Amino acid sequence: MKIIVQKYGGSSISTPEKIIKVAKRILELAEMGKAIAVVVSAMGDTTDRLIEMAKDISPNPPYREMDMLMATGEQVSIALLSMAINNLGGTSVSLTGAQSGIVTDGRHRNAKIKKVKIERIMNLFKEGKVVIVAGFQGISSESEITTLGRGGSDTSAAALAAALNADCCEILTDVEGVYTADPNIVNNAAKLNYISYEEMLEFAGSGAKVLHPRAVEIVMKFGIPLVVKSAHTPGNGTTIVEDKMLERVAVTGVTVDRNVAKIAIQKVPDTPGIAATIFSAISKTGINIRLIIQGISDGKYSDITMLSDKEDMESVVKVLERVCPKIKAGGVTFNDGMAEVSVIGSGIASSTGVAAKIFKTLSDNNINIDSISTSHIRIACVIDQQKVETAVKAIHRAFKLEELIRKI
Ligand code: ADP
Ligand code: ASP
Ligand code: MG
Repeated sequence: MKIIVQKYGGSSISTPEKIIKVAKRILELAEMGKAIAVVVSAMGDTTDRLIEMAKDISPNPPYREMDMLMATGEQVSIALLSMAINNLGGTSVSLTGAQSGIVTDGRHRNAKIKKVKIERIMNLFKEGKVVIVAGFQGISSESEITTLGRGGSDTSAAALAAALNADCCEILTDVEGVYTADPNIVNNAAKLNYISYEEMLEFAGSGAKVLHPRAVEIVMKFGIPLVVKSAHTPGNGTTIVEDKMLERVAVTGVTVDRNVAKIAIQKVPDTPGIAATIFSAISKTGINIRLIIQGISDGKYSDITMLSDKEDMESVVKVLERVCPKIKAGGVTFNDGMAEVSVIGSGIASSTGVAAKIFKTLSDNNINIDSISTSHIRIACVIDQQKVETAVKAIHRAFKLEELIRKI
């Protein structure tokens, strides 16, 4: 039995008309004799609206209740899509994350999938049913409803595809694939026919929200073929393949991450154990720090700068304000008006001049670089949020990314 996992994002099912269109597409696939599990997100901007509603009620709602609330969005979509399929003469069953056997850890709002119990879905496949699964949610071993982090439906689809050993995982969205830059910012961005798992991981991890980073990690680990394509127009989309299958290019794309806050501790005493004290305190909150830079010491003191997600800034600052007097550090400063621009390419480490070209382009556009970080396939610059679109467009142009064709 050929198994396909498809995932439709919020914008692709934002109206009843779009849901019916998606139902027709699923039925065409089912008629070809394939077993299909369809993961769906909440309709349109439902999740944002639910979060706004919570804020109107309480400034600091418990994470457990946020999950209870946010999980309702996907439940609406699965029921409506299954109704549409049945109305068109197909047979389908909708399942919540818990009913689909998606078991997570207990970390509300950012849970990790621990396992997927596939028996129920496999039995439904045997009965010839299309299975519609609520993305973004699971259940913990304490029977609590959890969510997987914003954009997490992609991860539900990837985990399901891995557990079912699916022949393919298709992510159907509002763009025709993965582009050299967000096509909603750079109009002449080029669609990539292929991208490597490693590059996709960097794209996803640096703000290209077309795929959730954890989804890429899962398909990479289990070797599941993944395609990103349009939910409503025909086309082959972008296929993720092994790096060794691809022709090498220095730069594949440029991404933007607006969800960046910078936090700095000044005059940190330069003695052993201080960094451990600071970061143990932060780690107790469960917050993920994305980048840490320790400045050069003058023998007595150094500065420590870190980047976090914007929504975590306040909590990190609170922890640091508690820790600073204990370690006799100078003080804490913070700024959430930043954004990060990243240039990604599996050939970056082996090409010369990529960093120089990025810095020159930013300087030609009068854009100041606040901090720089690099990995073997990424160079990232933190800049003023106001200048981010100018930066992306200029870098895209400088590397002629609109002409990029990725070949196998
Ligand atoms: P869905 O609702 O289907 O999950 P998302 O909004 O989460 O869709 O992701 C699709 C969006 O990702 C696109 O509309 C596009 O603006 C954005 N995006 C950012 N970077 C890229 C990129 N490099 N290629 C394609 N889309 C990108
Ligand atoms: N509905 C959730 C969100 O908006 C999950 C998703 O769309 O993948 O984040
Ligand atoms: Mg998404």
